[in-house]
Amino acid sequence: MPSYGPEVIGPPPRDPDQKYWDPDIQTMDPEKLRALQNDRLGVLLRKVFDLPVPLFRDKLTAAGIAAPEDVKTVDDLRHVPLTVKQDLRDSEGEHPPFGQYRFTDARAAVRIGTSTGTTGTPTISLWTRRDLWIEYESSARTWWRYGYRPGMIVTHAHPAYLYGGGPMLSGSYEYFGMLNIWVPPPDTDELAEQGLRFWTRVKPDIPFMGFSTGRFFEVASKVGIDPKDAGLEFKGMPGFGMGKGMPLMTAGAECYAYVGGACGQMPGAHINEDWAVVQAVDPATGEDVPDGEWGDLVVTTLDRDNGLVRYDLEEACAILREPCPCGETSIRGLWGGRFKDLMAVQGKRFQAAEVESALRHVTGVTEPTLEWQMVKPAHEDRPLVVRVEKGAGATEDDAVLAGRCAAAVREHLGIDATVEILARETIPRSGYKAARVVDE
Ligand SMILES: [Zn+2]
Repeated sequence: MPSYGPEVIGPPPRDPDQKYWDPDIQTMDPEKLRALQNDRLGVLLRKVFDLPVPLFRDKLTAAGIAAPEDVKTVDDLRHVPLTVKQDLRDSEGEHPPFGQYRFTDARAAVRIGTSTGTTGTPTISLWTRRDLWIEYESSARTWWRYGYRPGMIVTHAHPAYLYGGGPMLSGSYEYFGMLNIWVPPPDTDELAEQGLRFWTRVKPDIPFMGFSTGRFFEVASKVGIDPKDAGLEFKGMPGFGMGKGMPLMTAGAECYAYVGGACGQMPGAHINEDWAVVQAVDPATGEDVPDGEWGDLVVTTLDRDNGLVRYDLEEACAILREPCPCGETSIRGLWGGRFKDLMAVQGKRFQAAEVESALRHVTGVTEPTLEWQMVKPAHEDRPLVVRVEKGAGATEDDAVLAGRCAAAVREHLGIDATVEILARETIPRSGYKAARVVDE
């Protein structure tokens, strides 16, 4: 546990010109880093048996691991069974409300939240002060890589209350030492306007970036606010769009919100290996897949009060081990989306995000924002049904726009699509993540 005092509220100041937030860890010799992981893994497994933590203890003993000493190193983790979200959900159902996978009593924690519940009943997350401190320190490495520094003004529009994302992001910005403007998610035009108006009064140094950036642009044009006056600009996150997949930045609020951060020099994100063992695993065998290939994202958290052992997020992950020219020594991770979101049609497997990036190439549908939906494919051989709102100011016939969209989908994904062009504001808007795939 950190001692009580100023260091609990904030970190010691750093020289703004230093290259890394935490140079000792971020440039640690990989062998030393591995030894640190082995030590911390031993402590975690010791707790599983001694506390005990029944869900993990029972899984270990069922796999023939009778004592923590049976798993000596990170390499031995391949013998440890995987745990998926449904296991946590079942445990909470059988032993409500917290289940039998906690390492601390709920009253030792200071924060509680739930997952979004997009894939079933939300599970409950608990964080002690130490757990929050690990998340905040992890995120600080990333903010520093981006060039953020204490004293800057930053903003976000994450959902709040029981959903853990908003408080986590706000807390991490405040811990880092930035002035944090938390505006409401732009679920309605009125809420979007509130945020925009506030940004014209107190302009963030770091422009808003998030799933709902397009929403703010759309409402700005409706209510006559120049996006520049609110500090808005379209800007990609560092390291995105390089090679396959996205940088592995998060392993979910319930596991490790800030598991990695992109330096922008190479594909992927640097993994905080001092606080997690991150693996790309073949779930059928439990073995790591070869480097650079997609496997299940499996995370074992280290050095926390509340941990997860071999937690399989059922999302695609690839691990890269070549040294990065930025000087950081960790492995890097790529994220390839949730397996549940993977769709198949006409012999191709793809994700909604790939359809979206294809449509972004089409002029006439992207201004002020690209708004679209697709019907989840139910028949292997039929064309994919895609609906796209006509862009503001587009003068082309709907048929011409539809043809361009279908051509873009064919070019980028190799899939035949039937595209329907809709009037502006036909598709429901969302303040956070828009629903792009509908069942029909
Ligand atoms: Zn790097």
